[in-house]
Amino acid sequence: MSDQDFILVDEEDKERSTENNTEKNTGNNTGGEDGQPDRDAVTESPSAGTVKDEIAAAEKKEEDSEDEYEKICFICHRPESVTGKMIELPNHITVCPDCMQKSFDAMTSGAVDLNRLMNTPGIQFLNLSDLENMQPRQQKIKKKKEKPKEFHQLDIRKIPAPHKIKARLDEYVVGQEYAKKAMSVAVYNHYKRVAAGAADDIEIEKSNMLMIGPTGSGKTYLVKTLARLLDVPLAITDATSLTEAGYIGDDIESVVSKLLAAADNDVEKAEQGIIFIDEIDKIAKKQNSNQRDVSGESVQQGMLKLLEGSDVEVPVGANSKNAMVPLTTVNTKNILFICAGAFPDLEGIIRERLQKKTSMGFNAELKDKYENDKDILSKVTVEDLRKFGMIPEFLGRLPIIFTLKGLDKDMLVKILKEPKNAILKQYQKLLALDEVRLDFNNDALEAIAEKAMKKDTGARALRAIIEEFMLDIMYEIPKDDSIGEVIITREYIEGTGGPVIRLRGQEMPLLG
Ligand code: ADP
Repeated sequence: MSDQDFILVDEEDKERSTENNTEKNTGNNTGGEDGQPDRDAVTESPSAGTVKDEIAAAEKKEEDSEDEYEKICFICHRPESVTGKMIELPNHITVCPDCMQKSFDAMTSGAVDLNRLMNTPGIQFLNLSDLENMQPRQQKIKKKKEKPKEFHQLDIRKIPAPHKIKARLDEYVVGQEYAKKAMSVAVYNHYKRVAAGAADDIEIEKSNMLMIGPTGSGKTYLVKTLARLLDVPLAITDATSLTEAGYIGDDIESVVSKLLAAADNDVEKAEQGIIFIDEIDKIAKKQNSNQRDVSGESVQQGMLKLLEGSDVEVPVGANSKNAMVPLTTVNTKNILFICAGAFPDLEGIIRERLQKKTSMGFNAELKDKYENDKDILSKVTVEDLRKFGMIPEFLGRLPIIFTLKGLDKDMLVKILKEPKNAILKQYQKLLALDEVRLDFNNDALEAIAEKAMKKDTGARALRAIIEEFMLDIMYEIPKDDSIGEVIITREYIEGTGGPVIRLRGQEMPLLG
């Protein structure tokens, strides 16, 4: 018989074995033409295997679905997430370690009169005869599903390239292009440095940052967004509350214990986190002061070691060290410090320096130019900051210095509508749940921005303004089922008119 014939027989047999089981069982099928023993005898084991597989799969499925349930203690009815690992008894009964221990104690200690206890109301004993009537699952509650994360995070172990970090920041933070770029590069380098470790002699310098920008320009928001994107713990503190150790106020090291708390007391996680210290300009050296400067220069001095990297003993679960709390050691070498401040009067110092330079040279006519320069803050140098009252050692440990722009009207309008979680989108979503469409015409957005500009607190004013006039809308609209669309107008914002309201079925195509 040729090879070809063998193949044909093989194929035929295969078909037969899968198609016709009854034939196989009654012994009707004969051996192969070539007189070889019947191949069905061989195929029997795979088909038996399939049954076994099915049983195994069914068992696994049951186990998997069991995994979704929490076990409950038969005696105290607490779930496993509270009591710790349950002890399994026959008939799917589970008892928590506490109750098991108590049952044993009660039985073994002679001081307890078991007979009396049995009759005491409220006291239950584990009665094995009860267990027989128990149904599986009766004792279980379904585990809570993990909530999906709001952000799709970047993986710091794979260190996303700076342009990717910036692209993600762009989704949330409007404008501030330079700040976002500088920050992305610094963060990229920082985590690269952390990943590389001290493998050779070349120690990469830490990329601690100093952000300078007016209030409400997005400094805190940038850092918060960054930490959430990278999924690293973040501690935010205010430098105003810090004082030299031993004085009233927070110890400098308390910032590290805040970070530890943000990392759920996981030291390893905390050591890769970010510490954001706001209002850093408030710890500038006090000018012309004869007293000991416990909240200014001394705090800067105290922070030097922290910024550079040192072992810090921090209390776990508390802000200050005392006899009652355990201490742990956190190394700050890989913690990224980002300091920020508005630095009022810094513009004056920069202007003075620039004017001095120009008045000496040929460009004396440029002197006036700096008077009206809105972007003067971006020309800051370390020298200016020293003059402001920051000590050189402190500035030396914050090598990345960049500024943020004050927000103008256009930026404020964009902040209202563009970011992924923009305020307007939030309100629109809320009303959409009532099946009402909410629109703002461009004039209205500008009016809101103009109002916010007057308050001089940057984007912070926006929410307050919107909340004020949305209150009535959010109160009135659900009253009337026939309303299908609300359009906020400039007149409504300025208090000279009302919003445009359209009934269901009369909604207009979206306005600009
Ligand atoms: P500060 O610079 O004083 O730290 P924040 O970062 O706290 O200001 O900003 C206050 C709020 O304003 C933020 O929570 C954010 O919602 C909004 N905001 C500020 N700047 C921006 C921006 N550039 N893009 C988007 N939202 C911003």
